[in-house]
Amino acid sequence: MGLLRTALLAGSTSVCLREQLTRRPFFRRAVSRFMPGEHLGDALGACRTLQGAGVGTLLTCLGENVTTADAARAVADHYVEAIGRISDAGTGTQLSVKLTQLGLDLGLEGCLDNLRRIAEASSTHEQVVWIDMEASQYVDATLEIFRRARAETPYVGVCLQAYLHRTAADLEALLPLGPAVRLVKGAYREPADVAIARKADVDRNFEALAARLVEPKAQAAGAFVGFGTHDRSLIDRLIRLTADTPRIGFEFEMLYGIHGSLQQRLVSDGYPLRVLISYGSQWFPWYMRRLAERPANLWFVLKSLSR
Ligand SMILES: Cc1cc2nc3c(=O)[nH]c(=O)nc-3n(C[C@H](O)[C@H](O)[C@H](O)COP(=O)(O)OP(=O)(O)OC[C@H]3O[C@@H](n4cnc5c(N)ncnc54)[C@H](O)[C@@H]3O)c2cc1C
Repeated sequence: MGLLRTALLAGSTSVCLREQLTRRPFFRRAVSRFMPGEHLGDALGACRTLQGAGVGTLLTCLGENVTTADAARAVADHYVEAIGRISDAGTGTQLSVKLTQLGLDLGLEGCLDNLRRIAEASSTHEQVVWIDMEASQYVDATLEIFRRARAETPYVGVCLQAYLHRTAADLEALLPLGPAVRLVKGAYREPADVAIARKADVDRNFEALAARLVEPKAQAAGAFVGFGTHDRSLIDRLIRLTADTPRIGFEFEMLYGIHGSLQQRLVSDGYPLRVLISYGSQWFPWYMRRLAERPANLWFVLKSLSR
């Protein structure tokens, strides 16, 4: 991992840096490249625009590691309300949620109750709720919550990270469920005994995991895979890999504001695509992870400073 990337990921958890930077107008301007606004209405506006371009959408209200049960319940309340507003908007938007924002640090049962409320509301509209995967210490609890929620409704999916050594085994254990899995490379700072360090090896693992999910046996069991990546060369390999996979069995997923031209190309070639739109005021750690993914993004911050 490069020094700059390590520094940015370390910065993402710094309270002092967060307090300094989130107040600065230049920093807020730079963030706007990756999110249409802080309010649900801003995000829904972007969902409608993307719907017009044939692109599906996912919404996430930014925030993580809440410290009280009331705060976690309030997040679930917000998402239940958001599902109603999404239904009124008719955009077919799905939700992507972080379990630490639903109270995972406070206990598994309370967190599951909050997720259950969101999943029940989403199930009535036949839309999947996706569970994000956070730092490695949360993987066991996240998978346990996913399994328990999946036993109650098929409208729940989970993210798996290709950079973790453990993910191949986790996927094998999930496959009998016919799961909805979002595959990503992984966005957190992890030690070498937990995560694969070299990009080429992460990419290879991503492809191997993708191959398992699109095998006819897995697809026949109900597996669905969202390929959450902007990596052009990996996407080309995934297109070859899925040549014989029915297009209801997979989709590409990208983040709002990244590689718009690639998004258009996929849609015009007939591939299903969803774009994840973030909103909310708690954007600092999330934005620092976006900077770490591509330190060249720091230029946008500097340009915005010079304006
Ligand atoms: C829909 C979705 C959901 C996700 N959910 C999770 C999750 O739950 N848990 C998790 O750990 N991670 C999640 N991620 C993030 C993921 O793990 C990666 O960190 C992120 O997608 C960057 O990796 P990449 O596959 O695009 O490949 P990379 O090799 O990192 O990037 C490939 C190319 O994409 C472009 N690119 C990538 N990132 C950026 C950026 N921030 N800004 C500008 N250009 C960029 C660059 O051109 C880069 O060369 C999610 C990603 C997506 C798309």
